[in-house]
Amino acid sequence: MARTALITGSTSGIGAGIAEALARAGCNVVLNGLGAGGEIEALRARLAQEHGVDVRYDGADMTRPAEIAAMVERAVAAFGAVDVLVNNAGIQHVAAVDEFPVERWDAILAVNLSSAFHTTRAALPAMRRNGWGRIVNVASAHALVASPFKSAYVAAKHGLAGFTKCVALEVAQAGITVNAICPGYVRTPLVDAQIPDQARTRGISEEEVVQKIMLAGQPTKRFVGIDEVAALAVYLASDAAQSITGAVLPIDGGWTAQ
Ligand code: NAD
Repeated sequence: MARTALITGSTSGIGAGIAEALARAGCNVVLNGLGAGGEIEALRARLAQEHGVDVRYDGADMTRPAEIAAMVERAVAAFGAVDVLVNNAGIQHVAAVDEFPVERWDAILAVNLSSAFHTTRAALPAMRRNGWGRIVNVASAHALVASPFKSAYVAAKHGLAGFTKCVALEVAQAGITVNAICPGYVRTPLVDAQIPDQARTRGISEEEVVQKIMLAGQPTKRFVGIDEVAALAVYLASDAAQSITGAVLPIDGGWTAQ
């Protein structure tokens, strides 16, 4: 029977890439995320048609615990379980810590960290019943190292790495693995949106942000491909990866090797 994957924040960027790769691998898919209804429906219909799987969309807001729980309950009711849970939704804000807007701090912690707790706790009972599950948390190189002006994001991603390890230990004998993927810079709408912010905060041009800030620490001097991150997620979701659990895996062109 086909497995079912729920990917938070899959209307754009890395999440959309992971959703497509899992659909290609034969999973039914629950998409989630913000965006224009027409574009989301076009993505949903295209994935279903091109890959011959059942693709649904759930618009739960990852800042709202009750909506998150209801999303997972709907998926379990429709498909029997969320076999592959990918916690990918994420937002960013760049500012000095003493100027960091309080409501941005709260939102980043909610979307980038707490939403993974809310999806995980709701998805685990059906995974346990089936004796099989895969949880893939999309963290960041910023789960392992810091950069200035990203205090909320770095705190949330370090927290997500710790959460990953803790849950991995709790479910280690239940056929469920829990891992975190830590990408370096991937050129997505989230990164594009940071370029003007960073240029303003640092008083440099947008091109200098790309070359001197973003790719400065990435020894390969190229952005990581969405397809590369998606391929790692598909591998972690496979049977072959059953002994990889509690891992916090960089895919960062060497950034965190330094
Ligand atoms: P993106 O902005 O393209 O996508 C983010 C997704 O999250 C979108 O689908 C958006 O709708 C969704 N989202 C945001 N707020 C939400 C909310 N309240 N409720 C539901 N969905 C919400 O960004 P991306 O670059 O594809 O980032 C995806 C993940 O990868 C994030 O967790 C990010 O931190 C992580 N990441 C990105 C990079 C990078 O360089 N792009 C590097 C490392 C880690």
